[in-house]
Amino acid sequence: MQKRSWTIMAKMDQTNTLDGAGGATSPPSELEQAQIICVIGGPGVGKGTQCARLVTDLGVLHLSVGDLLRAGADKILTKQGIDIVAYMRDGKLVPKETVQGILEDAIVFSVKAGKTHILLDGFPRSVDQTKLFEASNCKIKAMLLFQGSRETLLQRVLNRAKTSGRVDDTEAIFEKRYQGFLDESEEIIRYFEQEEKLVKRIFSGGPNEGKGLGSLDGEGAGGGN
Ligand code: AMP
Repeated sequence: MQKRSWTIMAKMDQTNTLDGAGGATSPPSELEQAQIICVIGGPGVGKGTQCARLVTDLGVLHLSVGDLLRAGADKILTKQGIDIVAYMRDGKLVPKETVQGILEDAIVFSVKAGKTHILLDGFPRSVDQTKLFEASNCKIKAMLLFQGSRETLLQRVLNRAKTSGRVDDTEAIFEKRYQGFLDESEEIIRYFEQEEKLVKRIFSGGPNEGKGLGSLDGEGAGGGN
């Protein structure tokens, strides 16, 4: 009897748990533990600013896909031969496999550091990206969709260009990215709605933009739809 309980304990050390049938089950992986809220919106809509507010208000972690890609650009060019800066300069989406790799690394790192509730800013940019992400067992809980007028967004991007040093903060690339966002976002929203995930539209660019996340209460700062 003593021998058997030692055997079970040794097995539990390896697997952490045993299921009811006596078989081994693993604890949830870091990717499975992460609770993700996606944040999307056109260029210059203020996703980063609004995410920073939510970090302060809710204590969630903010991961910006664009920032992660910019930070990892040199390494990815060396390791995978993928030139992220060239994609950005053309206003094009970086291949989904590259995005997925960089996201998985960042999420695993964050969960290991005890941060399981994550705002994923700039993701998804397509339904294909969403499916690949979900296939890795990451759970998307909801999506915040920030919207604003084209004129306001363009002005913000041109203003940001004065100091950002970003290769894509130009009027020509803005037009491409803004159109790309309009084309892709409706399909993404339809997919989320089919999957019965919460999609919250928030108006964050225009006459009442100063109200910012006031519209999360459902009051609408200037009309969210
Ligand atoms: P952002 O920092 O969100 O304005 O994104 C800047 C650029 O990074 C985009 O124009 C794309 O080239 C790239 N990028 C950001 N997020 C994604 C994503 N989810 N999928 C593919 N490319 C992305």
